[in-house]
Amino acid sequence: MYSKIVVVGSGLFGLTVAERIATVLNREVIVIEKRPHIGGNAWSESDSKTGIEIHKYGSHLFHTSHEGVWDYVNQFTKFNSYNHHVWTIHKGQTYPMPINLATMSQFFSRSLTPDSAKEIILGEIQSMVFQDEDNFESVAIKAIGTSLYNAFIKGYTEKQWQVEPSQLPSDVFTRLPLRFNFNTRYFNDKYEGLPLNGYGEFILNLSHHKLIKIMTDIDFFSSGIALSSDVLVIYTGPLDAFFNYKFGQLGWRTLDFELEHLEVADFQGTSVMNYADTDVKYTRIHEFQHLHPEREKKTDGTVIMREFSRISNTGDEPYYPINSPSDREALMKYRALADAQKHVIFGGRLGTYKYLDMHMAIASAINTFDSQILPRFN
Ligand code: FAD
Ligand code: UDP
Repeated sequence: MYSKIVVVGSGLFGLTVAERIATVLNREVIVIEKRPHIGGNAWSESDSKTGIEIHKYGSHLFHTSHEGVWDYVNQFTKFNSYNHHVWTIHKGQTYPMPINLATMSQFFSRSLTPDSAKEIILGEIQSMVFQDEDNFESVAIKAIGTSLYNAFIKGYTEKQWQVEPSQLPSDVFTRLPLRFNFNTRYFNDKYEGLPLNGYGEFILNLSHHKLIKIMTDIDFFSSGIALSSDVLVIYTGPLDAFFNYKFGQLGWRTLDFELEHLEVADFQGTSVMNYADTDVKYTRIHEFQHLHPEREKKTDGTVIMREFSRISNTGDEPYYPINSPSDREALMKYRALADAQKHVIFGGRLGTYKYLDMHMAIASAINTFDSQILPRFN
């Protein structure tokens, strides 16, 4: 039996595991967080000047079709009825994104039906030769043809990832819906919304338990906590950092966020505007006030945030796993080392080197608790 349980990282994965340990096992759990705040990338706070809730790491949209996750999060917050819609600017025109019949009709300057749109795409790709490859670019072109790809996907993806799209895995493209109807919603999930009183309050409620002891501003690697058979560690930091980059650094994208206060009531008329063309250096602009149309505004102004993407260097925050073929090779070696650690459980976006949305991180944390933590205490 372990004398101590330590969770490294207070993102939604780490906090969900901590909540389960405290509530179900009735055991004390220490959460170590190197940032000055908890909640990982989902953290939000109220802007001191305008009172508008700022998502510190870019707009976070909660969506899930998982009943268990929806029931779980509703214990800690209510949600508003916000549905996410994104627009994208290409050559001075604004189109709905993800690509749907409205995007295609506007782009090809004619009224399209599901069949006539598919015919255009088929016409563009029928003479193309695809090898057996299954990468971002080949899968995208097969799905939407070359003109839509060049207009809305190629430039944005090059800015976002700064690698050849053919070097990216296809699931980066397929997580974006593609619709041959006029449904312009960004997500397909059954449940969607934003925490009514903000992510900050949701995260504080999730972590509020007398057996959860949170320590912020502390890096696990300099915390003095030694690994031993007496201590169970749930580690949600970067996998390669845990093993001191023995097989090299795994590739990540980081983001730079540029916040600006503007003396206008409404800057762009929507919460997220993508910029598809490469002559604009940022990928998108967030305008947070649109995420809560139910809230009464306290000031005339607005707050926007420009998002720039670049390769992550030492000291940067790792946000998106690149997952190139050489990353996947190193990842297999790191995973083998991780599997051999008897008293450390690796989880979350950084600990598994996987793209995880919030609902996936929560589902994975509940599953990790049920399958890997609970049995150790029974
Ligand atoms: P994280 O939230 O990354 O938390 C990990 C925590 O571990 C961090 O707080 C970090 O500081 C800490 N840590 C790392 N190393 C150490 C160490 N050595 N010692 C102590 N602490 C350490 N999800 C959605 O569902 N919808 C969205 O719209 C959405 N948008 C996103 C936009 C961006 C730009 C990003 C980056 C992510 C987005 N996500 C979104 C995903 C979401 O933010 C979380 O990444 C996801 O919930 C996974 O949470 P996590 O706990 O695994 O990781
Ligand atoms: N994408 C694009 N154009 C857009 C939106 C998305 O090319 O206007 C591509 C881009 O490669 C992105 C991927 O689709 O990384 C998945 O989109 P998502 O909205 O999930 O983006 P992310 O989570 O990467 O910000």
